[in-house]
Amino acid sequence: MGYEEAFPPELREYYAKLFGREAEEIMASLRTPVEKYYIRVNTLKTSRSKLMDILRKEGLKPKRSPYLKEGIYFEREGPNFDDDYEPGLPVVRANKFASESVYQGAMLYAPGVLQADKRIKPGDKVEIKDPRGLLVGIGIARMSAKEMILSTRGLAVEVTLPKFRLPSLSELESFKKGLFYAQSLPSMVASRVLEPSEEDLIVDMAAAPGGKTSHIAQLMGNRGEIIAMDKSRNRLRKMEEELERLGVKNVKLIRMDSRKLPELGIEADKILLDAPCTALGIRPKLWESRTPKDIEATARYQRHFINAAIKSLRKGGVLVYSTCTLSYEENEANVRYILEKGLKLEEQSVFIGSHGIGVEDVQRFYPNRHLTQGFFIARFRKVQA
Ligand code: SAM
Repeated sequence: MGYEEAFPPELREYYAKLFGREAEEIMASLRTPVEKYYIRVNTLKTSRSKLMDILRKEGLKPKRSPYLKEGIYFEREGPNFDDDYEPGLPVVRANKFASESVYQGAMLYAPGVLQADKRIKPGDKVEIKDPRGLLVGIGIARMSAKEMILSTRGLAVEVTLPKFRLPSLSELESFKKGLFYAQSLPSMVASRVLEPSEEDLIVDMAAAPGGKTSHIAQLMGNRGEIIAMDKSRNRLRKMEEELERLGVKNVKLIRMDSRKLPELGIEADKILLDAPCTALGIRPKLWESRTPKDIEATARYQRHFINAAIKSLRKGGVLVYSTCTLSYEENEANVRYILEKGLKLEEQSVFIGSHGIGVEDVQRFYPNRHLTQGFFIARFRKVQA
């Protein structure tokens, strides 16, 4: 399957209108994992050079980000075979989630298996395909066909040759000790652009699982106050674990619908609205299912958060609005909406992306140009009460 079939025709048309000839390159990049896989040094516990030494001892090849002093990245390995490669081995078909993981170097566990060639027995060499037939990796079966379909746990296939390979980090001692957080480069830029200081009362309106909140906390040296909210109980549970692992102490976590933020009567100095979005910029995508209709509906949903943010910001306060999506409506169109409400766009202290579409002072990250996730950041000041 070529990347053309991985995107609904309406979305391909939408991209062609918005990005012109670059649309093809953008879609091709979205199909592959990021070329540079970033982690953020947890400066509450260690320094970059110390962590680089530890990671080297753990067998990895960390590199320094030239942009952010808390950034470290690892080079992606692959593609390890061409798109038209047909190894002709017995096939194990995995669900979309498991396929996306194998595609980036993970093992295949039994819950992710949808189908398996009946002949497969432990020790056999097999190929792993996604539900639409894309080859995502090659490996050695560790269960029989029947076992991998029926088991609810356990290693089904030891993946020896994934299409791409990103480092596997969560088993490392340095991870368990909370010395870093795996986070994309643009996400780190978003918290930087907020320029948090320890005097600030900060609200993070869509906080879980806590990537940006924990970054803001470290930029504040664990002082000052962050009120972080999210509506998802599961994601908040994960966030609590993460804050604990990272040693973050200046965050008050609230489970609520943040469209109701004004009911708390807060006058925040700074608000981060890392809005729920169509996530069109997230890589890799074996295929995309969102269409322009989803874009419209999501952009409308985001305006409720925007209205709530503006009400809860003190005069002179700062709003950073970010998304991990590529659409115009969720990004520049919502920026225009915020400008109509009287806020002013401000320059961003870290600017390594491109300017916006028809709006200069915002930052867009393109997967093909910046070799990152697709991402968007705007910074505003509320100049009137
Ligand atoms: N900022 C997070 C980070 O850096 O780790 C990622 C946030 S994610 C882009 C958007 C979040 O918005 C999700 O965790 C989702 O549960 C939350 N969300 C969606 N609708 C919400 C609502 N009405 N109120 C509060 N949170 C909401």
